[in-house]
Amino acid sequence: MPELPEIVVLASQLRGELVGKRIEAVRVRQPKVLNLPEAEFAQALVGATVIGSEQRGKWALIETDRGWLALNQGLGGEVLLVRGGDLPEKWRVAIAFDDGDRLAISFAWVGHAHYVPPGALASHPMIGKLGVDALSLGADDLRALVGGRRGRIKSYLLDQSLIAGIGNAYIHDILFMAGLHPLRAANTLTDSEFDALARAIHDSLRASIEKGGSVWDVDLYGRTGAYGPEDMLVGYKAGQPCPRCGAQIAKIKTGSTSSYICPRCQAT
Ligand SMILES: [Zn+2]
Repeated sequence: MPELPEIVVLASQLRGELVGKRIEAVRVRQPKVLNLPEAEFAQALVGATVIGSEQRGKWALIETDRGWLALNQGLGGEVLLVRGGDLPEKWRVAIAFDDGDRLAISFAWVGHAHYVPPGALASHPMIGKLGVDALSLGADDLRALVGGRRGRIKSYLLDQSLIAGIGNAYIHDILFMAGLHPLRAANTLTDSEFDALARAIHDSLRASIEKGGSVWDVDLYGRTGAYGPEDMLVGYKAGQPCPRCGAQIAKIKTGSTSSYICPRCQAT
């Protein structure tokens, strides 16, 4: 499932490949991923020229001179650049550009391909509700967001309306690096724990971005990233030794989700 690092990589590649290209045609095989009737969606985008691309939470935003094409792959899927030849079999939305390049977009289950008019991102019903982007989050932001709340720190970190971009692939190592038990009440964190948490979020996501994203997701060229299980510290490693203290990593229930922790390094 693509998370923030994979979207950062994708947005950077989209920017490099698409800026300056004009959209010539839009085809749709799965209309339910759109936020507009198919004809209106196509009409909004055909003729538009790409001027940029950026990541926001788990959305890849392609900016044109007529508004945004906002992509969210949900539980998975691919955004592939196709130069010549047939589109990959599983395409659901295809965008053709004036130089012959095409974008083939597919979704593993459900996702979104939305047209957003210029200036309307903030009022988009999903993108407009995203919290602070995880990569630009500092310790002071974290403290201001959750420092006064009594709920569990893990659930706040995963709440996209507070902090956008942290998902299940990275949450376990982030909490481990910060030395925090996932069930810690947010309002019990000390200043130095907030500092450590902000650093852990940044370091964990950056490490994956530098490796081109995870080995489970593909980029614009269909290549998988290089961030895999050997890069993880405690995530999905139940029974293995903690890399810091050697204690056995445990998989525990935390509300409706599971967490991987070192019981010694992340005491409650
Ligand atoms: Zn440990």
